[in-house]
Amino acid sequence: MLTVDFDGPSHEIGRKLRPLGINSWGRYSGRRGVPRYLDLFEKYQIPATFFVSGYDAEYYPDVVRDIHRRGFEVGAHGYLHEGWALGEEESELLVRTHHILADLVGQAPVGYRSPSGRKTARTMRVLKELGYRYDSSDKDFDLPYLAHIDGKRCSDMIEFPNNTSVLDDMPLYKFSMTPPSEVLDLWRREFDSLYAENGYFILTFHPRSGWGSGIPSRAKIIEGMIRHIQQYDDARFFSLAGLADWCIANHAWFE
Ligand SMILES: [Zn+2]
Repeated sequence: MLTVDFDGPSHEIGRKLRPLGINSWGRYSGRRGVPRYLDLFEKYQIPATFFVSGYDAEYYPDVVRDIHRRGFEVGAHGYLHEGWALGEEESELLVRTHHILADLVGQAPVGYRSPSGRKTARTMRVLKELGYRYDSSDKDFDLPYLAHIDGKRCSDMIEFPNNTSVLDDMPLYKFSMTPPSEVLDLWRREFDSLYAENGYFILTFHPRSGWGSGIPSRAKIIEGMIRHIQQYDDARFFSLAGLADWCIANHAWFE
């Protein structure tokens, strides 16, 4: 699964920064990064998932419509990319973003990824009420599993854990300043290890400039990863919504 977290200007606005000058990295997502990845995924016929915050969808409505129009999945990613502890307002923000995305593309999102991995006890409850079929925020397993809500296993909602320390461009380009060629090498090895063990590989990246993978040289790393995975005849790409449907239909088999 290739998952793109849009992370446009909402990322800065939510932190009370004007998305100008040095803080304009997120605008690159809407102007260059997302269109570049739409072309790349079309070229290789990859059914990818884009997680979009409500604010970014309002800021770049045509880009988000284009994601959907070109056949890719749009999932929800907070309203202002709230990377801080949320209180009572969380429900309202989840509902608001849900309706912004649904109205914009004409189809309600079925998947959610929490911005900066922030979740509360109420998150899954609200998502379930809104009809979501999956969440992809937790870091506690390396396979999909049936989501738990209020201590009960839910037979029609899936958790897709993502490994945001290794299989995510942000810590590699922002914190460890890993050269792109080494990032590709690391991800290839991660893929091979997961392929050998259980076959679930989920990559998270951002179409921003700065610490993202939006610029051409870093998009080449993602393209290199696609080509690496395509060498395996029995590897298959899924959107998370597509895999959620499969998991819900087959959970008796895999859990
Ligand atoms: Zn994000």
